[in-house]
Amino acid sequence: MDRFETIAEGVHAVRVPMPGGGLPYSLAYLIEDDDGRLHVIDPGSPTDDATRTLLDAVDVLGCTPRDIASIVTHLHADHAGGAAAVRAASGGALLMHAREAEAAATLARGVPAPDLDAWGVPADRRPELLAAVASPVAAGLPAPDAVLADGDLLDIPGRRVRVLWTPGHTPGHLCLHDEDAGLVFAGDHVLPTVNSGLGLGGPTAANPIADYLAGLGRVGELDGLALPGHEHPFTELAERTAALREHHLRRSREVAAHPDGTVWEIARDLTWTGGWDSLSGFTLLSALSQTAQHRDFVAP
Ligand SMILES: [Zn+2]
Repeated sequence: MDRFETIAEGVHAVRVPMPGGGLPYSLAYLIEDDDGRLHVIDPGSPTDDATRTLLDAVDVLGCTPRDIASIVTHLHADHAGGAAAVRAASGGALLMHAREAEAAATLARGVPAPDLDAWGVPADRRPELLAAVASPVAAGLPAPDAVLADGDLLDIPGRRVRVLWTPGHTPGHLCLHDEDAGLVFAGDHVLPTVNSGLGLGGPTAANPIADYLAGLGRVGELDGLALPGHEHPFTELAERTAALREHHLRRSREVAAHPDGTVWEIARDLTWTGGWDSLSGFTLLSALSQTAQHRDFVAP
């Protein structure tokens, strides 16, 4: 895929560059409506390069930033980081689930560090974890202009795009289903090959794994082309959601096999995509917190 690709009538994907050396880009989507306006899903990272890439795509469509009517996203910097700039350039309405807006505000105030003693983290690995806790995930994200709830239809003239609340990755993560075109905008809920991290929106009362599995079940029942927030569009949504479900249930069983281990000891014995030794800072924090979530999750 080039930087810009038309996916379906009036729906376009944009590869937005991501700094940091992890995934190379996020996918933003531009949806045209019957009034000649545009709706943005996930504007991308908070860099000039990212915002320019998105606005270049707007230009390719013969539009200007002022034609952007709405922006929908979740709180992570690689999706929402450009939201403030795009909103300022366009006047478009920033839309999020209410829980996402709350989580973003909580993270911006700073969340307490996990109990590294209870997790059994060696002293020499604590500073990088404490630094990762302190780093703002969604710095500069404005409060939304309106909030979305499960079952809502987006205000996109000429299209029926329904909101599915899919918590787990973050507390207010959303998938969007274009019911007529058969498109499922999947954000970070379902990626074609990468396993998304869970519980990455600060502390929640509910277990993120339980939430996530419930959302996978709903999204897996949808027919159509999946349009994820990274990698590439894909069609095997039912198979992919089933595989992700099995991945998490298997991991819960692996964690349950170490009933007496600390979170650190359990995590060290699990298999990680890049290997345990590759984890540091934020990725190590994410690995440990997901191990703790699996320990606290009671599989159905
Ligand atoms: Zn994310």
